[in-house]
Amino acid sequence: MDEHLFELAQKAEQARLQQAIDNRVRYQGESAEDCESCGIEIPSARRLAVPGCQTCFDCQSLREVRRG
Ligand SMILES: [Zn+2]
Repeated sequence: MDEHLFELAQKAEQARLQQAIDNRVRYQGESAEDCESCGIEIPSARRLAVPGCQTCFDCQSLREVRRG
């Protein structure tokens, strides 16, 4: 492989990993007991599965759809 291409591929891989870390950091912190959007109780299984989540599964899905 061309050395320059190899370097680009390495940088892209590093950026991808950094992005994955950044995404994870956003989810750190205390999980909310109640959905901040609709107010229903968030099941403890979800709070454990998604540390730092602030919404129930339905509201989170809606947000992700809106975000595109
Ligand atoms: Zn909700």
